[in-house]
Amino acid sequence: MEPILLLVHTEPDGTLAKPALEALAAALALQGELTVGLVGAQTEPAANQIAGSGAARFLAVTGEPLAEPRYSTDAAAAEALCRAAGAAIVLAPATSRWSRALPGVAYRLGGRVDTHATSLTVENGAPAVTRWFYRQRMEGVLTRSQRPWLVLLDSGCVAPWSGPAGAAEAEAVAVDTPPTRTSVTGVQAPKTDEQTIRPDAKLLFVAGAGWTKKQADGAVHGPEAETLILGFLRSANASLGGSKSLVDLSGEGEAVLRFMTHLNQIGQTGATPRHPKGLSTCCHGEEPHVVGWRFVNQRRAINLDPNCGWARGKADVLYVADAFEVMRHVNRLLGAAAK
Ligand SMILES: Cc1cc2nc3c(=O)[nH]c(=O)nc-3n(C[C@H](O)[C@H](O)[C@H](O)COP(=O)(O)OP(=O)(O)OC[C@H]3O[C@@H](n4cnc5c(N)ncnc54)[C@H](O)[C@@H]3O)c2cc1C
Repeated sequence: MEPILLLVHTEPDGTLAKPALEALAAALALQGELTVGLVGAQTEPAANQIAGSGAARFLAVTGEPLAEPRYSTDAAAAEALCRAAGAAIVLAPATSRWSRALPGVAYRLGGRVDTHATSLTVENGAPAVTRWFYRQRMEGVLTRSQRPWLVLLDSGCVAPWSGPAGAAEAEAVAVDTPPTRTSVTGVQAPKTDEQTIRPDAKLLFVAGAGWTKKQADGAVHGPEAETLILGFLRSANASLGGSKSLVDLSGEGEAVLRFMTHLNQIGQTGATPRHPKGLSTCCHGEEPHVVGWRFVNQRRAINLDPNCGWARGKADVLYVADAFEVMRHVNRLLGAAAK
């Protein structure tokens, strides 16, 4: 197996987050000589964190300009590490930071990059990348002859490396970080309990347009829908997805579910998240939506219509029931269990 460089950037406390540890596990499985390239304002805690991983060499580009994600500084650091390591295969977690910087680095090195890889293995003695195409409808396995070959591994595909910490000394790689024209003055983020997209959640809860439709009494029950959905998300710590019909309604400014945005949309023109379980509510389960459930293992749906899409082999269990009633009851049970 050719030499491998694992490129990882550190978190504000200098350690490595889960996507980096997943990429480390994938790199170790290749059984080639592994160099770890660390980037960040602090890199020593990260080197110590994975000292016991069996990596042959640690390289680091460390410095304050690398505290914040920025294309120019990240690309300069990654390029210097790739040149110093001279590795043929460069693996990195598909964080937003690396997804932005590494395609440009591949170009500078005269190499190639593949994004959204779900695995990197050895087939017939050569590295091979697996990824999905056409909105996760087809899976492809590909190899490349160009080197260096940079591969961005999607998170959630490999169990993260875990092992005892130790003491590792990284060789410092010098980089002339380019002058920066942007400075980060702060971060504005929603409060944690309002963050509805939780990639690590065990359950994906999907709301469809039915929540905003007239119900049996002839009225629309928007405020109750909001309370039921948010109540469930908070007590189950679930991630929230939406159908296109529902997020489009929210985008058009209609008085519907105010916390729902296009970022929540699951499907062909939305996201394909990875969760062990999924519960669809008031959503018809049409193919352009369900294609986004490719990586949801156990699927359940609640719909009034026994002939909805979920009933046609798309869900493991379909509850033909009123989702308002079911979720009211589920929330009561969860509330009672929490006491
Ligand atoms: C090119 C293309 C790309 C697309 N991409 C996407 C995509 O990425 N994601 C996506 O979601 N869609 C996508 N669509 C649209 C998709 O085909 C559907 O139109 C959309 O998913 C329908 O949303 P829905 O099921 O929430 O709404 P509806 O079809 O209106 O279904 C609402 C459902 O709620 C049920 N319901 C109502 N009240 C209750 C209740 N009290 N209890 C239980 N059930 C109830 C009804 O029985 C009904 O089945 C795409 C379409 C095209 C053509």
